[in-house]
Amino acid sequence: MDTEYQLETLAVRAGQERSQFGEHAEALYLTSSFVFENAAQAAARFSGAEAGNVYARFSNPTVSMFQQRLAALEGAEDCVATASGMSAIMALCLAHLKAGDHIVASNGLFGATLQLFGNILSRCGISCTTVPQTDPSAWEAAIRPETRLFFLETPSNPLTQVADIRALAEIAHRRDILVAVDNCFCTPILQRPLELGADLVVHSATKYLDGQGRVLGGAVCGPKKYTEEVFKYLRTAGPTLSAFNAWVLLKGLETLKLRIEAQSANALALATWLEAHPRVSRVFYPGLASHPQHDLAMRQQRLGGAIVSFEVQGSRAEAWRVVDSCRLLSITANLGDTKTTITHPATTTHGRISPEARADAGISEGLLRIAVGLEAVEDIKADLERGLSAA
Ligand SMILES: *Cc1c(COP(=O)(O)O)cnc(C)c1O
Repeated sequence: MDTEYQLETLAVRAGQERSQFGEHAEALYLTSSFVFENAAQAAARFSGAEAGNVYARFSNPTVSMFQQRLAALEGAEDCVATASGMSAIMALCLAHLKAGDHIVASNGLFGATLQLFGNILSRCGISCTTVPQTDPSAWEAAIRPETRLFFLETPSNPLTQVADIRALAEIAHRRDILVAVDNCFCTPILQRPLELGADLVVHSATKYLDGQGRVLGGAVCGPKKYTEEVFKYLRTAGPTLSAFNAWVLLKGLETLKLRIEAQSANALALATWLEAHPRVSRVFYPGLASHPQHDLAMRQQRLGGAIVSFEVQGSRAEAWRVVDSCRLLSITANLGDTKTTITHPATTTHGRISPEARADAGISEGLLRIAVGLEAVEDIKADLERGLSAA
């Protein structure tokens, strides 16, 4: 499809391939394998001489439609879908790295990504140095002759620190280092890392792309020269996206722009209210002028996104009281849903790291993270006010 169309149009139209039946909605092809017209065609499909489906570990028409739609939204030449966000990151790393290689990554990455780099890839001889998200000179200083990958996620979770994608890409490309951005929080509606110089984008489609808390999924987007390697890994190692999940995600993409814009507007209203609240000592939200990287964030992303973190005056008891007073907000560490969620990072998502490491990462006992959904912001405020005014 013509990628000159606006994002709204691409989100509902890109990638659809109609079958002979002329279905209006995208078809769900629940089939694990495909048949051939004759022996010669089977041979040609297996050898790759003829394009087409062979087996659902390699490709499936519903999955292909999702891949094309997400590629169009990211402005990418190609996209490879995976079973989850973590398998997308794993596939990216194992497709492009080998024993002896080195990764520089931000220290505020999603917890499982840090575990993957620190505990699993390390056993395969791939090492990782973590550096502060916001300091390009620290990334440059961490480079070794064997560094092959910069991996970042911006804004970070839960403190919404913003990394300068353009500056990091410039540093990396002077040394032939690949730059991969986990674009889960912004989605291509708010931020298109490839346009800012990144080589690859990864997604946990589980979050905003589905957006309604139904399925797991992931993706790697970028130029074909890089995604081809990811595809080769996937067809052999097997963490493929299921056709059913791809079909759900196709429908998720159709409303992505409406949802992320409405959720960002809610988040800005909530962050502004929290910043003026007498029981709140600090608010972390890139859309606020008080955010340390506000200017960079507003150059790099269209809106602030839907994650708001804040420190309650006091400590764990006061923060837990806010959580426990909620009647509407869901107490869960998940995010990217139409339903607003609240979590206490120090005892959930960041509960297993040492108190010193937690303090280093800026995760205080009074910190709460809200992933803002689509409810009326007045109702979200009222739910938080109950616990805040009691604290
Ligand atoms: C959830 C998440 C992941 C992992 O995705 P799964 O689909 O749960 O495997 C990776 N990165 C970020 C930023 C996430 O929030």
